[in-house]
Amino acid sequence: MSWGLFQKPGTRELHVIPLEDLREHECGKGCWCRPAEDDEEPVVNRHNAMDGREAFERGERLLS
Ligand SMILES: [Zn+2]
Repeated sequence: MSWGLFQKPGTRELHVIPLEDLREHECGKGCWCRPAEDDEEPVVNRHNAMDGREAFERGERLLS
């Protein structure tokens, strides 16, 4: 399982998108997964994997 970094055409927006996810992602803030802006780099939008893989890579869901 891996992630890809994409730039939205015509903008400075960057999108970190899970590759081969269960559902295809849209390279934009309107994606179904409700991408979140990175805390340190707001141009970076982090998408949420439908298969939950980010829970293992980001360690942010320990409280849930
Ligand atoms: Zn997405």
